[in-house]
Amino acid sequence: MNRSPAPAETEPAPEVAAVRAAVAAARAAQPEWGALPFAVRAEQLYRFRDQLMDHEEEVLDTLTAETGKVRTEALVELIYVADLIGYYGRNGARFLAERRPYPHLPLLWLKQLKVAYRPRGVVGVIGPWNYPLMLTIGDAVPALLAGNAVVIKPSPVTPRTAGLGARLWAAAGGPAALLQAVAGGAAAGGELIDQADYIMFTGSTRTGRQVMARAAQTLTPVSLELGGKDPMIVLADADVARAAAGAAYGGLFNAGQTCISIERVYVEQPVHDRFVAAVLREVAALRPAFRAPDPWAAELGAMTFPPQVELVERHVADAVARGARVLTGGRRSPEQPMFYEPTVLVNVNHEMLVMREETFGPVLPIMAVRDEEEAIRLANDSPYGLAASVWSRDRRRAERVARRLRAGSCCINDVLINFVACELPLGGWQQSGIGVRHGPEGIRKYCREQSLLVDRAGLGRELHWYPYTPGKAGLLRRVARLLLGRGWRRWAK
Ligand code: NAD
Repeated sequence: MNRSPAPAETEPAPEVAAVRAAVAAARAAQPEWGALPFAVRAEQLYRFRDQLMDHEEEVLDTLTAETGKVRTEALVELIYVADLIGYYGRNGARFLAERRPYPHLPLLWLKQLKVAYRPRGVVGVIGPWNYPLMLTIGDAVPALLAGNAVVIKPSPVTPRTAGLGARLWAAAGGPAALLQAVAGGAAAGGELIDQADYIMFTGSTRTGRQVMARAAQTLTPVSLELGGKDPMIVLADADVARAAAGAAYGGLFNAGQTCISIERVYVEQPVHDRFVAAVLREVAALRPAFRAPDPWAAELGAMTFPPQVELVERHVADAVARGARVLTGGRRSPEQPMFYEPTVLVNVNHEMLVMREETFGPVLPIMAVRDEEEAIRLANDSPYGLAASVWSRDRRRAERVARRLRAGSCCINDVLINFVACELPLGGWQQSGIGVRHGPEGIRKYCREQSLLVDRAGLGRELHWYPYTPGKAGLLRRVARLLLGRGWRRWAK
């Protein structure tokens, strides 16, 4: 019988081959890096920070050119990454210090228990286009400090910033294989999931599902930072002027293309009209980049990605068709088609896309609500759960409301700024993700936990080992009844 030869493995696409080569180089370089003391790795990260700060102009030029964001908001990305290096540089050794829990079982009193954090190996970072520095190099910072090598696959929409970051890492004396950026889209991302030991993904919920499904094939752990539909609740006792200024900032920063942007606003009836009028005044005062006298005074940038502008147009058109009123904006700028005018909508309801799906643009839909209960019910009427904000002069009341919201983060009388509070874990509930960045968990997730149990007594054999005898079993049962039975509970609750 003729047997046809096994089909030769087809050549991988160039972007897939590049991912394989990058991961192989990273894997070869990682053990030496992972074996260094934390302080030595931190020193290297500080040298990297010096390079980033020394190249401020180049970093900001690259960021603004590939995203369209205004210069001040590009600077925020750089400052965030530089600060994150300091935060984890100072605290990382403590977060990753070996733990020695005290054994709760008397049986283990002669054992030493230890929990060590060991680097995973190669971390793959897959990033979105809205924050090309923060959400690529930023996520690489704790991964590197934990002793991993990192391969970044930035969005093909904004591929240059992460590449610049990798070059500055090498210029700072970092081994080039430890921090690399590869090009490509879904195919490169998929290959990185197959090859890496851990995936830090930031992007849409739809892609997040695909990432998790692919990672399931190799049981690769993932952290997913996904989309949101963040509610803002303005209670009747709020400082309306502050809330309105916060709404403009939190809804329009980065042209609304921020995962934790304010995406919908619920205002208690008595202050609704006053709040809307104040928001309109705030929005009218904003300077778009193409009219600003100085790039540092520009407040509204372009949107980054043409399909995103079309999505915003669809959401606004759907809202208008269902009865929403556009109080300002509601169209692309006639002067600059990538600028979508800051838009305020009223008469909105939960039938509209703009209140249900991620709009990710400079749009503030504002809805009047009867009371706190209705605001909470509507805020929770979403499959997402990334962030939220509550505004009230009564901070206790606002906190009470916040604790009833299904959201991973909630600001009281503030917005967005929680992203730079590195002490706070930031992660989504429900369809906004799995896992967190920041805080101790934001670096520990890049490690495998290894448990050690060390016998300190060195007896010939342990009481619970073979042979089993009725005498030993009787002793075990008496001890178990004493410690775990009903009688003891009265004393040891
Ligand atoms: P996206 O999901 O389209 O793409 C994200 C990344 O995944 C890109 O690098 C893309 O090339 C890659 N990718 C696409 N398909 C893939 C696949 N099948 N396998 C592996 N990788 C694949 O997201 P986007 O449009 O670039 O970013 C916007 C989204 O990101 C918004 O939904 C926003 O809310 C979300 N986001 C979330 C956070 C957060 O922290 N939760 C932060 C920023 C942005």
